[in-house]
Amino acid sequence: MDFGIRGKRALVCAASKGLGRGVAEALAGEGVALVLNARGAEALEATAAEIRARCGVPVETVAADISTEEGRAAVLAMAGEVDILVTNAGGPPPGVWTDWDRDAFIAAFDANMLSAVALMQALVPGMMARGWGRVVNITSRAVKAPLPALGLSTTARTGLTGFVAGMARQVAGSGVTVNNLLPGSHDTDRLRGTDARNAGQKGITVEAQKAARLAANPVGRDGTPQEFGAVCAFLCSQQAAFMVGQNVLVDGGEVNATF
Ligand code: NAP
Repeated sequence: MDFGIRGKRALVCAASKGLGRGVAEALAGEGVALVLNARGAEALEATAAEIRARCGVPVETVAADISTEEGRAAVLAMAGEVDILVTNAGGPPPGVWTDWDRDAFIAAFDANMLSAVALMQALVPGMMARGWGRVVNITSRAVKAPLPALGLSTTARTGLTGFVAGMARQVAGSGVTVNNLLPGSHDTDRLRGTDARNAGQKGITVEAQKAARLAANPVGRDGTPQEFGAVCAFLCSQQAAFMVGQNVLVDGGEVNATF
């Protein structure tokens, strides 16, 4: 299927690795020019070079922390006008609800809520003026089915979800769709780190920890960044023009719910 977005320009945040990189690769495969962001320049440049070589699309890079005002200013200066915005950032650390103080919450809000809001406020008005745009916020399955240890993440992402529920419907009449994409477990550095940490805490092998986790997934495996990226590219397609303000789970059916 041709997604009809060849020649569009996208900003994909937190995209040198993992899910963001999967999204960047999928959009580039559809002929979309990219502006990619991550903090570390080395991995970012390597990812950009591989995508340029494989897909032949222009790929610009901005090494910056997207959770800070200065970082976003640098990214926005490079991005200029974009047709597609994919927001993403690293997730907050796990913990215990009694330990999270104001600073921990503010850091989580900055990374996983306010950063996405600020990027939408900066870029969506231009999309509306031009009559076309796509925004996908990478959030988490935890918005639908909370994981207690990831309470910081859930709290911030649920706030973003509430914001999007209202604003997506305010901008849809101008040809701009805004949706959230909720990853379940995907095989990335972050998940591998989580498995290693949990295995250490339980005193079991990483393999045993991963097997126990996968037993709860109907598909019996983790998703790949490529699968996740393909769903995101569909949400950015012409065909998805009637999807507005949705929270789309990509989790192999792990969240056991009808809606
Ligand atoms: P990952 O494999 O660790 O990759 C994270 C990417 O984001 C890297 O490119 C990293 O590069 C970049 N990044 C992190 N913090 C950033 C920041 N402040 N500013 C700019 N770039 C930043 O992680 P992932 O698994 O793809 O996860 C992406 C998001 O999805 C996270 O918020 C995570 O919590 C969420 N999520 C993941 C899963 C999963 O199973 N993988 C499930 C649910 C939710 P630098 O470190 O160089 O900046």
